[in-house]
Amino acid sequence: MTPATTQPVVRIHDLHKSFGDREVLRGIDLTVAPGEVVCVIGPSGSGKSTLLRCVNLLEEPTAGSIEVLGAEVTDADVDIDRVRTHVGMVFQQFNLFAHLTVLENCTLAQRGVLRRSRAEAERVATANLERVGLADRAAAMPGQLSGGQQQRVAIARALSMDPRLMLFDEPTSALDPELVGDVLGVMRDLADAGMTMLVVTHEMAFAREVADRVVFMDDGVVVESGPPDQVIGAPLEERTRTFLQRVL
Ligand code: ADP
Ligand code: MG
Repeated sequence: MTPATTQPVVRIHDLHKSFGDREVLRGIDLTVAPGEVVCVIGPSGSGKSTLLRCVNLLEEPTAGSIEVLGAEVTDADVDIDRVRTHVGMVFQQFNLFAHLTVLENCTLAQRGVLRRSRAEAERVATANLERVGLADRAAAMPGQLSGGQQQRVAIARALSMDPRLMLFDEPTSALDPELVGDVLGVMRDLADAGMTMLVVTHEMAFAREVADRVVFMDDGVVVESGPPDQVIGAPLEERTRTFLQRVL
């Protein structure tokens, strides 16, 4: 392989983030290679969402560096909107546009940001709605769908931008338990298709099965990281064991 294809999709070095005088990220190092699925686990308040939000600069790092697809996102001369175009983000709350149809939700940014024609945007959106099993709901309004369906639309919307990296922040935490499986299934298919993914999740079975690497965070630091069978199956650190005892 050429160096260009082996370059990490995300390279975070010594990332610090403070809100006022409260430091919530205290020196994070994290690399995500092309095609890799990295799951971030850890207690509430440990800084997982802040970490994810720093990657596409929804939060401004206080110190440290974050390279996404080779661009240092904190450099003033890097066009962050261009970087963000390649990064899909799916949140706990689906954030669909309530007044637009499912199809329109999936075509809006394609047309506005990527300047695709209506026909092209609809073709791409339909293919991605098919991928998440919702092609037959293209004309529905988000409010007519279940939470799980809405989250799958949010994933289809993100995929319609042809992202090279997908960020997921607890995508199933707001869902009724019976709707979680379909969303995780879509994410598993994505991982199998080779998508590069950084996933914050409380779904330990998913992390164990799908992740190439699991990162356990606590109190703004990475406590340990490694293959899922190690971090979840045989954690080295007491803090990881304590956390897992509570969630498993
Ligand atoms: P997690 O996602 O692991 O639950 P977060 O990254 O959401 O953790 O939050 C880490 C800490 O940062 C928490 O104590 C939270 O209250 C604080 N925090 C997050 N966002 C803000 C903000 N915009 N302003 C002030 N404090 C924040
Ligand atoms: Mg969070």
